Amino acid sequence: MTTIGDQQLLKRMNRSVLLRLLRAQPGLSRARLATESGLTKSTVSLLARELIDEGWLSEADTAVADGLGRPSTPLQINVGVRALMGVEIAVETVRLVCVSLQGEVLYSNTHALTDSAPAGVCAQVARMAAIGHAMLQRLGLQLSSIGVCVPGAVDDCTGVVRFAPNLGWRNVSLLPALEKAFGAVGLPGVTVQLQNDADAAALGEYEFAAGERRAGQPDAQGQDGEDPLIFVNCDVGVGAGVVLNDRLFTGAQGMAGEIGHTILELDGPRCSCGRRGCAEAFFGSRVLERQGADLQRAAAFFGVLLQNLWVTFNPRAIVLGGKACADHPGFAQAAFESVKRHADGAGMPPPDLRTARYGALAPAVGAAALALHEYLRPLQPDAKARRARALARAVA
Ligand SMILES: [Zn+2]
Repeated sequence: MTTIGDQQLLKRMNRSVLLRLLRAQPGLSRARLATESGLTKSTVSLLARELIDEGWLSEADTAVADGLGRPSTPLQINVGVRALMGVEIAVETVRLVCVSLQGEVLYSNTHALTDSAPAGVCAQVARMAAIGHAMLQRLGLQLSSIGVCVPGAVDDCTGVVRFAPNLGWRNVSLLPALEKAFGAVGLPGVTVQLQNDADAAALGEYEFAAGERRAGQPDAQGQDGEDPLIFVNCDVGVGAGVVLNDRLFTGAQGMAGEIGHTILELDGPRCSCGRRGCAEAFFGSRVLERQGADLQRAAAFFGVLLQNLWVTFNPRAIVLGGKACADHPGFAQAAFESVKRHADGAGMPPPDLRTARYGALAPAVGAAALALHEYLRPLQPDAKARRARALARAVA
């Protein structure tokens, strides 16, 4: 790596430190930022000026007195320049959101999925994105990135959907097709990212922890945010997204968290994947909608799955979302109670259990968070670098 590269990386890291501090604690002054970040005051001043000029930060109009009576100007994330777009391609629905850099939903739009063939899906998503983009232009906001999520295993090195059984997809090269479709409707050439729906939802809950402990803001015990965090998406399919050590854990091929196909009963009911007794066959949303479905029994099986996730990852938080939880609030509650009983049985405190902050929009909002998450972590290889490496391997 050249010297120039090193210096640029160092600068990006320092910039991201300031942005993450101000997301967690809006209103910090330059002096407080220097104390909290360990950077010198002159470095903070230089970077803050740059971030203000580029529209990432804004200053309050009036200075306030700091602890020693000296005037200081509070800084905050500027939500008036950039916006992020997120799209969830679900089995029956497409949901699109535009959110601010702080996770505020500025616009949302939901349509039935009209055609589940990949080309039809890309065209529908692009039409909805063009309408969302026009709305952002009316608000005077600039589109920064588009994140898209799907109900299946995604190889984020190549942008290929490996397997999405409920859409009938296998090895669909979706990301290049989406980029082409966005270009065809005249969207600006921004970063486009693809991820699994539960993974995206986990990231959204983690990145946009409004008013609560955020990533980068330690609690009284010095613990950093809700990490590990597990998002369980209980929809037609059942999947989990895992945030571990400040990043998504997706496994070697993007298959991590496919918990809908963990087997909860030998020789149980037949599942969409061909196996018997999978979690999805007990409490996928279509199973719960069947006449005479036993919600109590389904919730007990759901509780077993959550208990197993808890002892596998020891998360700080388990967040539930998806159609099954939204349509049957008693179902999620009964599953929570079941986890608490299992915890009591072992004399252990249960993990923090809650439902999705963004409700049905959780995967779409999380998809919007993908690019921001990457931008704020310059030391992690970004999606573009991972794709380039995968391509190099393929032609070598
Ligand atoms: Zn299965």
